[in-house]
Amino acid sequence: MPKRIFPPLLAIPESQANSPGIERALVDSAFAQRQSLVVGGLAMLLVGLLVWLHSGKLWMLGWTLASAATLVGRLSLARAYHARAEPDCPYVWARRFTIGAWASGALWGLINLVIVTEHDPLINLVVISVESGYLSGAVARNNVLPAAAHGQIVLTLGMMAAACIATLQLPYIVFCGFILLHVLSSRSTMRFLSRQTTQLLVAGADNERLLARLAATNDDLARANGRLAALANTDALTGLANRRGFDEALAREWRAAQRAHASIALLLIDIDHFKAFNDTLGHPRGDECLRFVAAALAAELRRPEDVVARHGGEEFVAVLPQTDLHGAALVAERVRAAIAALAIPHPACALGYVTVSIGAVALVPAGDAAMGDLVALADAALYGAKASGRNRVLAATSEPAVQPPPASMVRMVPEV
Ligand code: GH3
Ligand code: MG
Ligand code: MG
Repeated sequence: MPKRIFPPLLAIPESQANSPGIERALVDSAFAQRQSLVVGGLAMLLVGLLVWLHSGKLWMLGWTLASAATLVGRLSLARAYHARAEPDCPYVWARRFTIGAWASGALWGLINLVIVTEHDPLINLVVISVESGYLSGAVARNNVLPAAAHGQIVLTLGMMAAACIATLQLPYIVFCGFILLHVLSSRSTMRFLSRQTTQLLVAGADNERLLARLAATNDDLARANGRLAALANTDALTGLANRRGFDEALAREWRAAQRAHASIALLLIDIDHFKAFNDTLGHPRGDECLRFVAAALAAELRRPEDVVARHGGEEFVAVLPQTDLHGAALVAERVRAAIAALAIPHPACALGYVTVSIGAVALVPAGDAAMGDLVALADAALYGAKASGRNRVLAATSEPAVQPPPASMVRMVPEV
């Protein structure tokens, strides 16, 4: 990397090259300090008027007017910067700012002609001290734009030194040594401040990047947790809810039915002679059959609040909120018929295709009725359906809640 001869427009460290966010922040910070610009400009006008009134030199009036014009120009530039619609190229604005800063620096440099032409040490002292104050403020303000700050140092103090030498007076020539020291200290102050400002901006940008990455990681984590929770409640073979999902859904719907004093129904669905199916056609075909039956079940249970799950093995379960026994029996029969209509070949069964038996129950959770009663009733109804020939629905009422009396069972025998 060749060593840079001229100071750069923006104090961007090499590690942050091509960071538009930092470039913009640097230019923002230069344009943000309008108050100090106004104070510096007013100081120029006051000094100009003071020297003009004191010495009567017409060119000082010209200098004062030029200073006023420069101040107005720089303030207009700052206003245009803040009013721009889109954040455009920061370098364009850095260049404009630098030209404004150089104009001020050159004007301050020019005022040193007073030192050469004016022989009043008090006036010269006023000019030198106000000029030095201006320079310190400008260097502090413009530290993030090195070309602007360096230009101001060189233009102002360079011309001051030249003017002092031109007086050919020893005290002024000795004073040049102080000017040199002022140049050196201004440069190092500027570099120090510029490093600090840039480091702060870079750290801020790094923090923002880290925060964004953290937020994205949190989102990923939340999504992964959601997927994991869904997986934990899903049966891998059929894609239906698993036993855990069923337990959660039943508990939730049971509580809702309790609150609403509404009927809740349960269907227990078991594939007939499934062991024989596996034994004759093999487990992979058995798994395939389970998937077909699961899809048919999911398609037949149409209400959004219905929950269908694999209860275990070749047994499925459906929770039907807001459904009475009559409705449960109708849905169960529709499910039975839909699975029979799949006509999945079953060589080891008399009908020649896969069928299911279904136990259907419904009750209104009241008094000391427990959630387990519902499952026990459905199990008993399913047992009844199996015992009375399979491929059928047996619907059991809930009265009395605990023991399902065979007399209260409604049998729905398909016409086969
Ligand atoms: P029933 O008509 O009385 O219900 O007789 P069944 O043969 O269906 O009932 P049983 O409980 O005797 O047999 C259930 C069979 O289901 C045992 C097993 O071969 C089969 N099975 C259970 N889980 C799976 C599974 O995940 N995949 C497969 N392919 N078969 C399974
Ligand atoms: Mg079975
Ligand atoms: Mg079974």
